[in-house]
Amino acid sequence: MTPRGWAVVTLVGLVVLLIASVALLVPWSRPPAPRADQLAALRELAPAEVGRSRAFHAALRPGSYGALAIGLLAALLLGLTPLGSRLIGLVSRPFGDHWIAQAVLGGLAVVLVADLVTLPFTAWRHAVVDRYGLSTQSWGGWTVDLLKSYVVSAVIGAVALLGFYTVTRFAPRWWWAFGAAGAAVLVVLLSFVLPVLVEPVFNRFTPMEPGPLRTELMALADRDRVPVRDVLVADASRRTRAVNAYVSGFGPTRRIVVYDTLLREASPAEVTSVVAHELGHAKDRDVLAGTLTGALGAAAAVTVLYLLGSWGGLLRAAGVESIGQPRAFALVFAVVAVAGLVSTPAQAFLSRRVEARADAHALALTEDPTTFEAMQRRLATVNLADPDPPRWEYLYSASHPSTVERMAAARAYGRGEGR
Ligand SMILES: [Zn+2]
Repeated sequence: MTPRGWAVVTLVGLVVLLIASVALLVPWSRPPAPRADQLAALRELAPAEVGRSRAFHAALRPGSYGALAIGLLAALLLGLTPLGSRLIGLVSRPFGDHWIAQAVLGGLAVVLVADLVTLPFTAWRHAVVDRYGLSTQSWGGWTVDLLKSYVVSAVIGAVALLGFYTVTRFAPRWWWAFGAAGAAVLVVLLSFVLPVLVEPVFNRFTPMEPGPLRTELMALADRDRVPVRDVLVADASRRTRAVNAYVSGFGPTRRIVVYDTLLREASPAEVTSVVAHELGHAKDRDVLAGTLTGALGAAAAVTVLYLLGSWGGLLRAAGVESIGQPRAFALVFAVVAVAGLVSTPAQAFLSRRVEARADAHALALTEDPTTFEAMQRRLATVNLADPDPPRWEYLYSASHPSTVERMAAARAYGRGEGR
């Protein structure tokens, strides 16, 4: 069988594995929160606050979707015309067109152009967030954050680009196999490394101070039989007034992180409710499941890329001979941009199912639907979340159930449903 034949067989295998893992790891059976409860919850929210949240999102929308459109347009322009290949040539010329310069500098230049065209929208977003009082960050702090994120992406990007084009260069017929394995390994590695190496670039994490709340949270984890070494507090207040908590990493790098803003804004019982949700993610190994499906998806994406490489029209449009050459990176980038856009609703859908399960876990663990509902209300008010967002936006990108869905789930639980 030819390498191409093997690639097709591998792709089919990866897609089957991906479907199987999604089918097994994502909770499918949970009934949706009753709409009547949702509407009742919505009616009880203060109209002025709901109006303010909606105005905030209306103000954000042109920037968000503008960035999406312009970013995609830039990626397509660079990838589906010879512009991208020319840009890579231009950047690598001072280095004698060496393939490493093409691969790393050329690749980063393509990404930088795409970042720069969306920069005005990113700045606009900060201005809106600032105007609504959600940001605590000056333009100086915002710029420093932006530069830090560019540096972090450039470092990770350079490693990935160098690795990928080393493989395409030294295994011109079988690069897809090494590339697929490498992409999967990179996803797993990043899942371990990001919380430990990258998160501290942006925030300081300190163990939660000993006291009744910490004792309560550790006891909660113990009762849940989720081994937690520590609960960390992030100094999110240097950037935002928004409240949040999350769990990241797995195995020895797993940690539960609570924003300092949450500790300031919410009652101890509400913090417990949020942490119970995070323990649900840990208990159901959601980070591990996300990493596994991400790794399978990345491997499949590399294989698809290789197979697309035999589409002559695409290569001619990009002005390159082969999709595996560094000068074709803009084409690869365009394909990835389109794939990202198309897969967003599916990812959001799966995320919402997983988040709803963590909510159910929190309700069962705390047996306190009243506090859970109060916390959801507070999350919406403080974070200016639209409690019942437009359907199309919810379907396209909502990673969590809406506030009214989460409140309705608490009400249903309180009545003894869904236990
Ligand atoms: Zn969650």
